[in-house]
Amino acid sequence: MKAPISVTLLGATGSVGQSASQVIRQANDGRQTPSFTVQAVTAGSDVAGLAKTALELKAQFAAIADETLYGALREALFGTGIAVGAGSSALVEAAERPAERVLAAIVGSAGLKPTLAAVRRGAIIALANKEALVCAGALMRSQAWRFGATLLPVDSEHSAIFQAMTHPNAVEKLFLTASGGPFRQASLEKMKAATPAEACNHPVWSMGAKISVDSATMMNKGLELIEASYLFDIPESRIDILVHPQSVIHSMVSFIDGSVLAQLGTPDMKAPIAYALAWPERITTSVERLDLARIGRLSFEPPDPVRFPALRLARAAVQAEAGAPTVLNAANEIAVAAFLDKKIAFLDIAETVEAALEAHSSAKLGYGAGGSTFSGQAGMATLEDVVALDKCARQWARKRVEALAVA
Ligand code: NAD
Ligand code: MG
Repeated sequence: MKAPISVTLLGATGSVGQSASQVIRQANDGRQTPSFTVQAVTAGSDVAGLAKTALELKAQFAAIADETLYGALREALFGTGIAVGAGSSALVEAAERPAERVLAAIVGSAGLKPTLAAVRRGAIIALANKEALVCAGALMRSQAWRFGATLLPVDSEHSAIFQAMTHPNAVEKLFLTASGGPFRQASLEKMKAATPAEACNHPVWSMGAKISVDSATMMNKGLELIEASYLFDIPESRIDILVHPQSVIHSMVSFIDGSVLAQLGTPDMKAPIAYALAWPERITTSVERLDLARIGRLSFEPPDPVRFPALRLARAAVQAEAGAPTVLNAANEIAVAAFLDKKIAFLDIAETVEAALEAHSSAKLGYGAGGSTFSGQAGMATLEDVVALDKCARQWARKRVEALAVA
């Protein structure tokens, strides 16, 4: 009998975090091999959800990002023997504890520091937090190499590619599939007036609010394109995006002999999460089994570049490098939050991102504490570079969003 795998869940209370919790409990209840022990769990501000998850998973440490909630978390876990912490240093402490695997499932670039802390102690990272890789791809890769960390994809498309990647040196292309989101067939007029509730009403996947809006703009696929180029070290020109509304084929790899391998399954994040937690083994999950006869037909179409400019922006950003993906991600996070707050319209999201990228490439994005200009040459080699550019792009996007809100 193999020893259990110890894991830490960053972002344990979110959609991915809770699916991971189910996968772990099912593996342990079914006395499967491998089974899991939980070292630490973290959340942003959901004290009750974090305490409940920490107890269910018998975690040793629970950390909440919002410092003001330290007392509430301590009270919620009083007498349980579970240690508690609060603030960004507690999140880093959670990541630094000696778990073999760390599920990175915080949303946004807020996940970068703790994820990087886990990378720097050579852990196996089950990476859901795509924004961390988009905003700091070069850094994450070089640090993973230097410290012997392994980045395993949790995003369903990248998990599919990883599973189909039988011959890494003979790859011709990657095909990222996309559901097309809730506005796949909507007119531009309809999209102009889209509400947060409509944008979050995803036809296939049930997910957190931010990624749901990203799916509606298709920026999610843009982020995934950048994620794939960093994870699999392949230029964007060799990554195609294919709309596949049923989301049964999770992605594909084509090889130099003309052969194409795909990975299929019912759209449920528990499958790629289980794969990343148990890899190279497979474990039983409760994922609904695929019934192709019932589904009957799988369809495919190209994405519409007019209604979904986010795809063009992501390609441009990853081509430009020199911080452009960091800017794209930061501006998108600010614009999505403003849209969810009903401050800007749906189509303003891509517009804000495009304007931020233009400001960045024409060096008008006041960079650094003194407001000096970002040269575009820094290369984003250190965490400090990334954090400074991320902050500056956020400030720029906030101003833009305010201007759009009053317009
Ligand atoms: P979510 O909003 O449901 O959960 C986010 C988690 O991060 C929560 O635990 C929350 O408490 C925590 N958090 C939020 N802000 C924080 C902050 N500032 N500091 C620390 N913690 C914070 O999001 P989700 O849908 O679970 O997505 C998580 C990540 O996984 C995202 O990067 C997303 O793109 C990616 N992802 C999600 C899915 C999905 O099906 N939900 C699929 C693929 C990839
Ligand atoms: Mg995905």
